[in-house]
Amino acid sequence: MARKRTVAFSRNAVNLFFHLLTRCNLNCRHCYINPEQHGTQTLPLETIRRWLRAFQDRRRETNLVLLGGEPTLHRDLAHIIRLAREMAFASVTVDTNGYLFNDILARVTPSEVDYFSFSLDGPTPAVNDPLRGEGSFAVCVEGIRRAVARGFTTSLIYTVSNANIDHLDRMGPLLKDLGVERFFIQVIGLRGKSASHQKASQAGAPGQVSRERWLGVIPRVAETIADLGITVVYPKVFLAPGEVFACAGRVAENFFVFPNGRVYRCPLCEDYPLHSLVFRDDRLTAAPKINEADLFELSIPEGCVMNRLVQPGNIDYGPDGRPLYQIACCLLKEEVRSE
Ligand code: SF4
Ligand code: SF4
Repeated sequence: MARKRTVAFSRNAVNLFFHLLTRCNLNCRHCYINPEQHGTQTLPLETIRRWLRAFQDRRRETNLVLLGGEPTLHRDLAHIIRLAREMAFASVTVDTNGYLFNDILARVTPSEVDYFSFSLDGPTPAVNDPLRGEGSFAVCVEGIRRAVARGFTTSLIYTVSNANIDHLDRMGPLLKDLGVERFFIQVIGLRGKSASHQKASQAGAPGQVSRERWLGVIPRVAETIADLGITVVYPKVFLAPGEVFACAGRVAENFFVFPNGRVYRCPLCEDYPLHSLVFRDDRLTAAPKINEADLFELSIPEGCVMNRLVQPGNIDYGPDGRPLYQIACCLLKEEVRSE
């Protein structure tokens, strides 16, 4: 029997999403990396050391997620992981597309990495590869098997779009077979390439699913997969009547660091020069106004201000002009696990 709970924003923990580089060997159709906004550099080890130190907070737990681009393309990744351990980060996760470059599994140990988090967007090559690239399914699945065989704990991220939502329910048996412990369902964002597809109205490009489809499929499939003993996490997206809206930018500590020095508090802002913090001479400083922090303060009937600005299509209005429901903060999650 699966048990569901909304994961409220933690006020006691800091979550640091650190993009070490933006380079990647893949070219996913929904990639959110935007080199114009995020830079193209690969951060040197010394810079990473100084930037990590800026977030070292011994009073509160800080969870570190290392990402890219593809972070295993960074030759110093093993060193960076060890550095983070020495700095006493509460947890270290590596998000990877599964290619696991530079023999990373042999260069770190399960006691140094809490999770290797893989990305796969379908239960078969026929679903996944048109989205993530020819051959990427086989490589990713093999990478998960190798990680599990070496004793690493693994999770898997599935980005839901209209191109793959109908195949989500077939992920359960695959996850079970692979030994994956946590399954993260993401909603495709209108950022990076997805945003440019939308602007260009490309036929067949993966797009967001409707509210009806999301609510009709995701909670049900999440419960089915949780019943297999896998923890499932997915964004709430739509608030139910009576649920209270909160903006993580106001009440939580999430930081998204990019190699050009920009630091965002809200992922939906990442396609714009709206970052509220920036590294200058390796020191974390406030970015000039107007920035995302000014938006966090606004209160609108639709809920999330950034969603209203960049994805207004996912809100419906009644005859009185009032929104029929509110959009939750994109960082508000539902967690489902078996009892
Ligand atoms: S693996 Fe990640 S960074 Fe690389 S192209 Fe795909 S979404 Fe972008
Ligand atoms: S997604 Fe919306 S609610 Fe969440 S931090 Fe960004 S602006 Fe705030």
